[in-house]
Amino acid sequence: MSFFVVDVALPVPLLRTFDYLPVEGEQQSDYQAGQRVRADFGRQLLTGIVLGTRTTTEVPQNKLKPLLARLDDVPLISEGDLSLARWMADYYHHSVGDVLEHWIPAMLRRGAALTEANESGWQRIAPNDSDPVLRGDKQKALWQRFIEQTDILHSQLTSTGFSLAQCRRLAELELIRETHQLPQPLIPATPKPFLTLNGEQEKALTLMKNELGKFRACLLEGVTGSGKTEVYLQLIDAVIQQGKQALVLVPEIGLTPQTVQRFQERFSVPVALLHSGLNDRERLQGWRQAKEGVARILIGTRSAVFTPLPDLGLIILDEEHDGSFKQQDGLRYSARDFALVRAHQAKVPVLLGSATPSLETLHNALSGRYLHVKLTQRAGNAKPPGMKLHSILHQPMISGFAEPVLSAIKQHLDNQKQVLVFLNRRGFAPLLACRHCGWMAECRRCDARLTLHQYPPHLHCHHCDHQQPVVHTCPECHSPDVEAVGQGTERIEESLCELFPLTPVRRVDRDTVRTKQAFDELFNDIHQGGSCILVGTQMLAKGHHFPDVTLVVILDSDAGLFSADFRGMEHSAQLIEQVAGRAGRADNPGDVWIQTLYADHPQLNLLIDNGYHALALSMLKERLEQQLPPYSHMAMLRSECEDKRLSRQLTDQARHMLQDWLRQYGKGNAPVTLLGPFPAIMERRNGRFRYQLQIFCPERKSLHQALDALVKQLQSLKGFNKVRWHLDVDPVDTL
Ligand code: ADP
Ligand code: ZN
Ligand code: ZN
Repeated sequence: MSFFVVDVALPVPLLRTFDYLPVEGEQQSDYQAGQRVRADFGRQLLTGIVLGTRTTTEVPQNKLKPLLARLDDVPLISEGDLSLARWMADYYHHSVGDVLEHWIPAMLRRGAALTEANESGWQRIAPNDSDPVLRGDKQKALWQRFIEQTDILHSQLTSTGFSLAQCRRLAELELIRETHQLPQPLIPATPKPFLTLNGEQEKALTLMKNELGKFRACLLEGVTGSGKTEVYLQLIDAVIQQGKQALVLVPEIGLTPQTVQRFQERFSVPVALLHSGLNDRERLQGWRQAKEGVARILIGTRSAVFTPLPDLGLIILDEEHDGSFKQQDGLRYSARDFALVRAHQAKVPVLLGSATPSLETLHNALSGRYLHVKLTQRAGNAKPPGMKLHSILHQPMISGFAEPVLSAIKQHLDNQKQVLVFLNRRGFAPLLACRHCGWMAECRRCDARLTLHQYPPHLHCHHCDHQQPVVHTCPECHSPDVEAVGQGTERIEESLCELFPLTPVRRVDRDTVRTKQAFDELFNDIHQGGSCILVGTQMLAKGHHFPDVTLVVILDSDAGLFSADFRGMEHSAQLIEQVAGRAGRADNPGDVWIQTLYADHPQLNLLIDNGYHALALSMLKERLEQQLPPYSHMAMLRSECEDKRLSRQLTDQARHMLQDWLRQYGKGNAPVTLLGPFPAIMERRNGRFRYQLQIFCPERKSLHQALDALVKQLQSLKGFNKVRWHLDVDPVDTL
């Protein structure tokens, strides 16, 4: 038998792959790229992916180990997907083995067989016009089910009152037999008709239909409520008609039962879902439904972008500006950017939708790289909300509200309407302080203050999750004069209950709405109508229709106006616009009041007077002047360590490495600019000191050459075992 080794990608951080001998007795032809194998690695047993085979290796014969097992006969990952994974590993300077982990569901990563997604069920084997002699109504009813439907999952039968014994009885009579099958997604019996599009929607749909069948990136920029989703639905319909599959990516918070229902009730094809609320088996099922082509539409959050779809015809990314499309740990990828690469490979269009596009996407659309389609009017009869800034400078405040704002709330409630009060801060108060000596309750592990919570009473660090009991006397001066300072959603809820004792007040934040079910119940409640006040964080801001909300009050948007992050204003404006978009859907015109200390802030005024697009254009101008993204490309090296000196030193070293490399090899390339290293805004978090080095370059290629050299050198750097570091390419959060 001729000698060969198998090249295996393993889920380890090292930027390389590994040679193994084949499983004893196996031939070179048994191995194909994309199969899973089990390998002994150091002291661990890992599942890896075969990348190929070779007849030579640089590993000495006596160091080569045989693979423990080959798990697949046919490749689990296609050639095309392997090349996408290689692209991703290069782009994010990450191990290809780690990257490939994203392509397969957790159960398969642990070595499970594909068939573990199957569920036991029953299949009719007798013709449906057989007339068996059955005893008892229950047996007859069960047989009736099988006359209507050939394959039924066992769980579906038990949930409708049939027992295992009853099924066995039909099996004994050779009417049905037991099966193990992949559950099929549900299909509605009679799909709802599509809405008649308005002129703008019609035009948008036609433009995008023309792009089907080839790669094209499109931005659908449409104000909230302009009917973007309706356009998605009808475009997907065209894709389905062509026999293709559609992939729809939505923000984590946007994947609500309402959204899903809107898709499910329109199509007579199976729709599969992939989101974080599923268990591992359900994820495997959804993945297989997509991969085997059973599901024709796949709706999912960020990681669904990796799901294999053999007949992919279109990718839609809704709310493309949303932060949840960027993974913030491990492989720090952007699902939006990857969706573009994937669409390019598959030669299909990718549609990015948003009312408030990111400056990156807007720049690409304005420069003509993307097709730019706009919806400027609200769909149906809905009117845009009237926005207004309310200065609270030197104003008397009542529990966090200016007086005229309270009168406005009262007026809307008197009209039997609903009011939404937005405050992006959970808890009762952001600060507990001593009036006597100025002591403040701080986290021991972070450079941060503890948030006071009332339900149940405790102090909580929102950065490291540390919790401790509330103190009632000052630990420094023993004064009992310790008080809560500032407003959180709990306190606003309490104040509103006192101010409007006859009106129901509902708080919506991560503390009150922990499960999808709780979320659902709450929304059903709100949709019943009747005057009420909703108090909430950004959980309230996205994707929901509140037809009876006619007033939105934004309590405190000032923090974002002066952020140290160059994207601070962009993100604030997106959030304000999203929250404002909740008002005045349907036929109720809405008002939006924004309380601020900075009523003459030029960018805030631009947003209020001329809208997000106008503000975005002015922010783009600033970015150009400062040569910030999207006019340059950026990466960030972050380090963290309990030893402050070591953390700092690692970033210092990185700077030197880059400077040396640039001196030697950087000639003729676009200039690479280094900023830092400097401490993160919150220098210490969870006991670790954090430093960062920012790296800019107007050209992607030059930047990536430098990053490649940097990562290789850092991986072989000695003496920094205690320091955790990572490289973030195209960081979204730069604090
Ligand atoms: P967006 O996704 O842009 O926020 P939606 O697609 O959710 O907007 O539409 C907002 C509301 O307008 C929804 O209630 C939707 O049913 C309605 N709508 C959308 N398009 C039309 C249309 N052509 N005619 C009537 N109502 C529409
Ligand atoms: Zn004190
Ligand atoms: Zn903390």
